[in-house]
Amino acid sequence: MTFPFEIGGPSFRARQVRSWVFHRFARSFDEMTDLPLGEREQLAQRYPSIRPEPVATWEADGGETRKALFDGSYETVAMRYPDRRTVCVSSQAGCGLGCTFCATGQMGLVRNLTAWEIVSQVLWAARIFAERPTNVVLMGMGEPLANYDHVVGAIRTINDDVGISARKITVSTVGLVPQIERLAAEPFPVTLALSLHAPDDETRSALVPINRRWPVAECVKAVKSFRRAHGRRVTIEYAMIDAVNDAPWQAKRLADLVRGSDIHVNLIPLNPTPGFGVPPSPRVEAFARELRGLGANVTIRDTRGRDIDAACGQLAAEAVARG
Ligand code: SF4
Repeated sequence: MTFPFEIGGPSFRARQVRSWVFHRFARSFDEMTDLPLGEREQLAQRYPSIRPEPVATWEADGGETRKALFDGSYETVAMRYPDRRTVCVSSQAGCGLGCTFCATGQMGLVRNLTAWEIVSQVLWAARIFAERPTNVVLMGMGEPLANYDHVVGAIRTINDDVGISARKITVSTVGLVPQIERLAAEPFPVTLALSLHAPDDETRSALVPINRRWPVAECVKAVKSFRRAHGRRVTIEYAMIDAVNDAPWQAKRLADLVRGSDIHVNLIPLNPTPGFGVPPSPRVEAFARELRGLGANVTIRDTRGRDIDAACGQLAAEAVARG
């Protein structure tokens, strides 16, 4: 079970506590003012904190984007937009998949996060927003499907207890095909995003080494089956990297992959890392135009929080490197 507290007392006490944790986003038992003082003190003594607190926080976009570093090794970004509140959560501290353009990939895997640590990131953002997030994206540090059981446990709690619909929870994967198939068999219809980043195996294997195990065609086939299983539209995430994956022939190849499906392509100008730059905007726009001209559904993603490196594990990467 994801909820890690034994409450005791009368049966309604557990409901009361859960309501404080999941709907009023309490950080400690001391805040639960309608619990009898003695019980509150006992619980606070037994569980000094309800969820991990950040060791550092940053803000950008006039406070609309907030980022937190937990345990010196994983991070969360909360983004408020006029029409939604999105939290980008980590599923692992570091990541063992070693994508060459990714700051997190350069850290290696530090550890898997527990289901409660994943849920707690959503609760941290809820506290910041003073209401529950509308969208949860598992696009922070780590490969969610490499920490399958904890991620699925967290999704159940975010869905059942925090009350965020599974449809508003996005799981982003670089393409662990057997786990995509497993996720397709789960009863909750989460949204799936495939981080493709290149439409050809040669380029993709150089960027995403796991591609040697599950190449482009297999990954795309798996997300199309997921789409059929859940009736949920899937997304291809494509980090635009200067002179690596932004050529017109790659736009054509990508269009071929999605032709005849309703897969949505999200182009994300890369948050630069050493050795990998972001293409100039006109090239990103030309790439999008080419794809649209070939019938693909395309958007260019707004890169919120770039001034605090909010795109991909960079602050945690620096904290871990510093020790
Ligand atoms: S891109 Fe994702 S899967 Fe690849 S190393 Fe970074 S966090 Fe891991």
